Amino acid sequence: MTTPRVLIAGASIAGPATAFWLTRAGFEVTIVEQSPELRRGGNGVDIRSEALTVIDRMGLTADVRDRAMVNRGMRFVDRSDRQRVRFPTAEVENMVGSEDIEITRGDLAQLLYAATESDVEYIFGDTATELNQDDAGVDVTFARTPGRRFDAVVGADGIHSKIRRATFGPEEDFRVFKQHYYAVASIDSTVGEPFWTTFYNEPGRSVALYRDNTGPGLMTFTFHSRAPLSYDYRDIDAQRRLVRAAFADSGWHVPALLDAADAAGDFYFDALDQISMPSWSAGRTALVGDAAYCASPASGAGALLALTGAYRLAGELSRHDSPQDAFHRYENAQRPLVAAKQAHLFTYITVPRSRLGIAARNILLASPIPRMLGRRSSHGASTLADYYSRPIR
Ligand SMILES: Cc1cc2nc3c(=O)[nH]c(=O)nc-3n(C[C@H](O)[C@H](O)[C@H](O)COP(=O)(O)OP(=O)(O)OC[C@H]3O[C@@H](n4cnc5c(N)ncnc54)[C@H](O)[C@@H]3O)c2cc1C
Repeated sequence: MTTPRVLIAGASIAGPATAFWLTRAGFEVTIVEQSPELRRGGNGVDIRSEALTVIDRMGLTADVRDRAMVNRGMRFVDRSDRQRVRFPTAEVENMVGSEDIEITRGDLAQLLYAATESDVEYIFGDTATELNQDDAGVDVTFARTPGRRFDAVVGADGIHSKIRRATFGPEEDFRVFKQHYYAVASIDSTVGEPFWTTFYNEPGRSVALYRDNTGPGLMTFTFHSRAPLSYDYRDIDAQRRLVRAAFADSGWHVPALLDAADAAGDFYFDALDQISMPSWSAGRTALVGDAAYCASPASGAGALLALTGAYRLAGELSRHDSPQDAFHRYENAQRPLVAAKQAHLFTYITVPRSRLGIAARNILLASPIPRMLGRRSSHGASTLADYYSRPIR
């Protein structure tokens, strides 16, 4: 029997995690990443609940803990920089019923890359331009690399997935507008408190700053918009102007932070949208992570969904000769978690829409109610099948 060959598009979280498990099951895996090198940057992503189990089964828990960010929680300040309320990470962990390890997206991607680079063929600076599938395989054309045939293709290429567009149709058909936009950039500033995320709110907009005590921190601007904004996703200056317009006349340190955002080389802007699809596969092509079911950064579940989806997709492929059967099983197993996470965005905490909402949020977080809601997580480690009974490392 020939070794099954799988092409994965995207080398962030979902792509390398899928490759990790596929190579352990004997697949030959190629990852194509459009960026010329592993992309750095990104805020912290949360690893908790089933994602902790997946990381543990990969043998990466110690590495993830070594690189974890120390984030003691959220603190909310007013225009005069007075702290109104703080909400420790321990309380979040109590609410979700799981430890929560926060790590920057870039560090997690780097760890997953290091765990796979010797077994996986990585092609950087390229992209699949055409997929032609038949009953026995998929012919893939690349922008630079000569074309090849694979047994299956996995799109792990994020919210703006090209694999999704090529196989299922335009992004607009699957994108769910959630009425918020956000921008992230690094910042060298002494505003805020080390190891805490400091939020400043005005109705329908928030600025959050995180820093430790070693170097530059990160700032995030989030704002509400009733209607979708029209902008060119390649035009970074136009995106900076959108953020400036949304935060015009803001108080606190916002004017200086907007200047810093103008100067930041890693400014990143996007909508807090979700992806919702009736099916995540067609023939021999499947989607995983944000490409299939982005829940938005406001869900705090991007890494959780990417890691569990990768684990399930690869596990089912290793158990079934037919990719279609495997994709069907993957989808059935992963859907409940996706539905639960897409239903819960935290914008009511981070970006209340009115002064009353801001005051109510502060009262809520200072009250015993969050502690009373503790341990209501319904998705424990037990929902993950044990595809690989032998220890991997
Ligand atoms: C630069 C960056 C910064 C981010 N910052 C944050 C953040 O601050 N907070 C947060 O919660 N989430 C952030 N995210 C999203 C977060 O990583 C995801 O929600 C989650 O981890 C799921 O990951 P994913 O692998 O499915 O998708 P993503 O992390 O979006 O990765 C998709 C990968 O596919 C690559 N790619 C895109 N198109 C193609 C193509 N045509 N061909 C080949 N490769 C392609 C991208 O370069 C990227 O490496 C960020 C993502 C990126 C790429």
